[in-house]
Amino acid sequence: LVPRLQPFTSTIFAEMTALAVRHEAVNLGQGFPDTDGPAGMLDAAKNALFGGANQYPPGPGRPELRAAIARHRLRYGAEYDPDTEILVTAGATEAIAASLIALTQAGDEVVVIEPYYDSYAAAVAMAGAERRVVGLVERDGRFALDVEGLRAAVSGRTRAILINSPHNPTGTVFTRAELEAVAALCVENDLIAITDEVYEHLVFDDAEHIPLATLPGMRERTVSISSAGKTFNCTGWKIGWVCASPELVAAVKAAKQFITFVSGGPFQPAVAHALDHELPWAENLRTSLQDKRDRLAAGLAEAGFAVRPTAGTYFVCVDVRPLGFEDASELAWELPERVGVAAVPVKVFTDHPEEWKHLLRFAFCKRNEVIDEAVTRLRKLR
Ligand code: PMP
Ligand code: GLN
Repeated sequence: LVPRLQPFTSTIFAEMTALAVRHEAVNLGQGFPDTDGPAGMLDAAKNALFGGANQYPPGPGRPELRAAIARHRLRYGAEYDPDTEILVTAGATEAIAASLIALTQAGDEVVVIEPYYDSYAAAVAMAGAERRVVGLVERDGRFALDVEGLRAAVSGRTRAILINSPHNPTGTVFTRAELEAVAALCVENDLIAITDEVYEHLVFDDAEHIPLATLPGMRERTVSISSAGKTFNCTGWKIGWVCASPELVAAVKAAKQFITFVSGGPFQPAVAHALDHELPWAENLRTSLQDKRDRLAAGLAEAGFAVRPTAGTYFVCVDVRPLGFEDASELAWELPERVGVAAVPVKVFTDHPEEWKHLLRFAFCKRNEVIDEAVTRLRKLR
């Protein structure tokens, strides 16, 4: 393995899920739902599967899916031409990697917000670029963007900035003011923004998802990425997409076509159906997840953790120190065996483990009885 990929030999999700299976633990580590998506979407996949949609789809994605993505993006007032400005990918993961490979190279720096989804660091490394990490800061009861830190991280070598909102693992949803600060920085320094919006529909209370591309000056310089996995409970389908200017989409496509070429033939028309017809289902998912957030947060607080607020995604972070632990990572490794629950330590998503070592992430995209069982088991930690 080449040195630049040596830090990336395994993922925390694979490791924790394996540990959960070994100890028959309730798995609140890896974030994936334990119920299926809308029946209409599943039917559409079945019909496509038996209707002959089993060969290579077109390179940019099936036209009806690109058209549905364009219609969906209109909800934010953002217009994209399905023929030149939309590319279907193998999940958001491929979209992120292909964007970085296509747009950055050795000598370039990519600004990444910490904690960051694990694939970002690996994808920046695969591109041969370097990451410059800026941490979120706890302020006013939430994890906020460190605008000054962000400004300081941008140099003459900075080519792109990667923004994830709603944010995994903290559950932060960036405010308009925070996004405006990012936009100002991008415009002043002529940076490309790559946005990971996979949790765009999973926002709670009065939080609002605002695509960075909709801010003044950002449409032409933003690669907006999302996927169907979280919105429609189909994380295994790996249908993602890129919306950007024709030039940026053409660049990402140049990389994408030699990574997977295409993928997910029969799932593409099913996701097109879902985007056009199943958003009411997704709205129900959102409200049910908000209840699950409250249910798990209350249980974790009862178990003795200090619970951090979550405005979006399906994750909640807790501080383990009130229970007498210093390092959430040590706790995460012994938790499946000790009480039969799996969670993920936040420090593995950072370059500064000391600063983040007290936080543990739990996923609440699970049936209520599963959440309750996890809480019952976690109460034994006291
Ligand atoms: N980005 C974030 C922030 C995620 O949490 C995930 C999770 N699964 C992904 C990207 C990957 O999305 P996909 O499954 O569509 O590749
Ligand atoms: N996105 C999911 C999470 O953060 C897991 C994805 C994966 O296993 N790579 O839990």
